[in-house]
Amino acid sequence: MKKYILAIDQGTTSSRAILFDREANIASSAQQEFTQYFPNPGWVEHNALEIWESVLAVAKEAIERAGASAEDIAGIGITNQRETTVVWDKQTGAPICPAIVWQCRRTAGMIDSLSTEFREYLRGATGLVPDAYFSATKLKWILDEVEGARELADSGRLLFGTVDTWLIWKLSAGETFVTDYSNASRTMMFNIHNLCWDRKILKAFNIPESMLAEPRPSGSVYGYTDENLFGGRIPIAGAAGDQQAALFGQCCFESGDVKNTYGTGCFLLMNTGKEAIESSHGLVTTIGAGFSENVDYVLEGSVFCAGSCVQWLRDEMEMLDSAAQSEEIAKSVPDTNGVYIVPAFTGFGAPYWDQHARGMVCGMTRGTKKAHFVRAALEAIAYQTADVLKAMEKDVGKSLREMKVDGGAASNSFLMQFQADILGCSIVKPECLETTALGAAYLAGITAGFWNDIEEIRRIRRNEQIFTPAMDRQKAQKKLSGWHRAVEGALAMSGN
Ligand code: ADP
Repeated sequence: MKKYILAIDQGTTSSRAILFDREANIASSAQQEFTQYFPNPGWVEHNALEIWESVLAVAKEAIERAGASAEDIAGIGITNQRETTVVWDKQTGAPICPAIVWQCRRTAGMIDSLSTEFREYLRGATGLVPDAYFSATKLKWILDEVEGARELADSGRLLFGTVDTWLIWKLSAGETFVTDYSNASRTMMFNIHNLCWDRKILKAFNIPESMLAEPRPSGSVYGYTDENLFGGRIPIAGAAGDQQAALFGQCCFESGDVKNTYGTGCFLLMNTGKEAIESSHGLVTTIGAGFSENVDYVLEGSVFCAGSCVQWLRDEMEMLDSAAQSEEIAKSVPDTNGVYIVPAFTGFGAPYWDQHARGMVCGMTRGTKKAHFVRAALEAIAYQTADVLKAMEKDVGKSLREMKVDGGAASNSFLMQFQADILGCSIVKPECLETTALGAAYLAGITAGFWNDIEEIRRIRRNEQIFTPAMDRQKAQKKLSGWHRAVEGALAMSGN
């Protein structure tokens, strides 16, 4: 009987592997960081071979630490940094240039030069707001700028992949060239309505279709690992982009289910069921993780600065020894004494979208103390989350009952309680905060028959804590309107 599912979590700064047992407990794990390259201002690159080597190393290490072998593993689930673009030569197996990372801004000019009509087409077909963030312009850049790339591509030798595709191709020793719908939906080349690569977009960006992988549901047996890697052939049975994997790992299987990941920034995703809702409030529409062509759609919004504001208080303002200390300091005062921090350090994301906005502190008096400042920073994370959630609620025309949470800052109980108070809904924190890896494991586990179905997953999921709203709604509204006035101030200062 198989004992484990192996989840591979290939993130932006590190690769991790986790073995989950039948109760979805972590049996073993391993992690390795890899090099970040910043060759020009605004550019971010990775070495795709280094990514692959790190993944292979952590997978072997996790298997060894559990004293397991390939026969014990029912399947592998992959979750990955999204949008990052890898191009390689299928004959040599070598990338032809560095991978262009999602954060890289080198193709911003290409986006600026798109016609209004084509932008609208992109928005409708892909669900995305055209941006350099997504893979399409990164791939075009490689074909246009890397010497010899266009000729190799035209002769059919080059393959493009997001990181899922690259890893599955390497794991299967070049046998399997696939992607999953959730990753494909982040390339800005994939039509999220008919689940095909969009020929009109490919033509406009001059991208040969022969470079693109076969898109499949997130839970499917894509192929098998090469015999020589782990001493046996393990089914590769799941793949999903990191945020969609986290949504799945949080058991947000129903329309209206929402999760928020509190990390450096915040990523809010809402399952909207079979309907692809086009946002009127600056959110993007994307594809959720699932098992069939009958996909679930997702609304996604992000907050650029969340946990990083706490880091700023620690490292630049020197108000904290650690991020965790913010909890006890915030609790030492009953409120912020009228102080609001608007942490628009790198502009505003959803729903304001102003890349020129900058941070602001307001409402200070002679009596303002460090603790008020720290509390205001944590409250700002909750307010920004509330703004994105309100945008989602308006788009779907429904109000939220509860929100599931994960990420580093979700361990801050003050923040979670304040979030419940401001939203007026329950905040549910699971016992296992590794929801991204867990999502990949669930996908692969169900596909490989290790777990029966999502009902079984629901049964083994354990919540750690539920925060219920305790603040008077009028008081919450008053705080929120103060926040909105502060945001208006920051927007008014934008570009100065
Ligand atoms: P990422 O995956 O984006 O690197 P993590 O999920 O590891 O982020 O979360 C780290 C972020 O969360 C950091 O920005 C840190 O400042 C913040 N953070 C971590 N623990 C706490 C805490 N207890 N209270 C507030 N913020 C925290």
